[in-house]
Order: sequence, then structure tokens, then C-alpha cells
Amino acid sequence: MKKNLKYEGKGKALYGTDVDGELIQVFKDDATAFDGKKHDTIAGKGALNCAISSLFFETLQDAGVKTHFIRRESACEMRIYELAMMPVEVVVRNIAAGSICKRLGLKEGLELERPLTELFYKDDALGDPMINTEHCELFGWATAEQIRDMRALARDVNGVMSKLLGDAGIRLVDFKLEFGLLNGAIVLGDEISPDGCRLWDMETGRKLDKDVFRQDLGGLSEVYHEVATRLGVPLA
Ligand code: C5P
Repeated sequence: MKKNLKYEGKGKALYGTDVDGELIQVFKDDATAFDGKKHDTIAGKGALNCAISSLFFETLQDAGVKTHFIRRESACEMRIYELAMMPVEVVVRNIAAGSICKRLGLKEGLELERPLTELFYKDDALGDPMINTEHCELFGWATAEQIRDMRALARDVNGVMSKLLGDAGIRLVDFKLEFGLLNGAIVLGDEISPDGCRLWDMETGRKLDKDVFRQDLGGLSEVYHEVATRLGVPLA
């Protein structure tokens, strides 16, 4: 049962439960982009993201990746272990798109020779600036060992998700992960959904992720629905 609201962000809310150390993560219908400057409510998005994210977490756990996921609780709710979140976002890229193209003058669609991991400091007011391991150590955001663990887990996640999506004809271009500590160990947290990934149709290159919303390319829920259907996700 959901109890007190602990946190509310742009796309999600976290509630306490009657079990110590377990939370309910609620996926909202809100869509935001450009640091919240663009905002809309998209009916059904929360349920689609919850369903897709649950499948990703289940598949990752089966592959031995430690995550906060306990189970999908209802259409828009997921039961999770409470983590002490790291203030660092880890982005993995297989193909150049988005901010790396702007930053380094790369052409969108450039196939990277190997997966690239990047670190960002989680701070909305600063626009989540890119950082490195030294910043994390110096400012106490994470130790070098924790960064190594996060990068290694992020690469494992990339392998598992690239295969799962690839089997559905979808290319995993890039994605963002967040980690936290559970009993002192780094564990994957947050959500993994088309809100935080770039997904391109392998045959046509058509975008199947939040870039559809960012770039006004059409209906977001239709596209997320297509991802869910192609992955065979049960839409509770
Ligand atoms: O904007 P950028 O190209 O760095 O984003 C890389 C990936 O991380 C994209 O899939 C984007 O959706 C995701 N991301 C995110 N939340 C952020 C920043 C990026 O989900 N705050």
C-alpha cells in the first residue's frame, strides 16, 4: 500500500510503503523536455513507461544485473527497494545523437567504434553538466571505485538491452542510467524507458523515443505503444 509522498519529479513520484526499505515508484503522464521548458500531459504514457521499464528490469535481473526492482505493482506503479541515490547520471552511447553531436560537432547517426560512457552531475538548475571521475572524487559525489562499478554495470545493461531491443528490430542508440547504494553496493535505480533512451527502427531509422516529443515528430504515446508491442510487453 502507498503511504507518504517522498519525492516528486518531472516524470515520476516516489511513495513510502508499509514495508521498511521498499517504495512505490509511480510513472506519471507528464512529458517534459529542455529542462522542463517544454511540458505536456500525454494520457497513457505513465502506464506504457511502467510496462516497458518493468520488462527491462526483469530482463536485467535475469541476466544478473543488480537493480532496485521488486515487481510491477499496478499499471503505473512499480515496487522498488529504497536506494541512497548517487548524484551522477551515466549515459551510454552506441551511436552519436543529441548532446554529443552539439558538443563535439559529430554527425547524428555516426556509429561509435565501441560503446562510450559519459558522466553528468544531476542538477536541474545547472542543466546537468558533464563531469569526470575527478570531479566525483573531489566533490564527494562518488568514489573512483563506485564510478568503476557504475560504468561496468552500465556496459552490462547496454549489452542486455541492445540484444532485447535488437530482437525487436530496434537499435539502442543511447540511454541514461541512475544508480544508488543498497547496503553499500552500487545498484541500478530509477527507470529505463523510451523517456531516457534513444531508440531507432533498425530498418528505417524512425525515432521511437522522447525525441518524437522534443522534435515534434508526431504522437508520443503511439510510438511508445509501438515499442511496447514490438517487445511483447504485457500492458496490464
Ligand atoms: O541529451 P543527451 O544526448 O546527452 O542524452 C543522452 C541520452 O540520455 C538520451 O537517451 C536522453 O534521453 C537521456 N537523458 C535523460 N535524462 C537526462 C539527460 C539525458 O534521460 N537528464
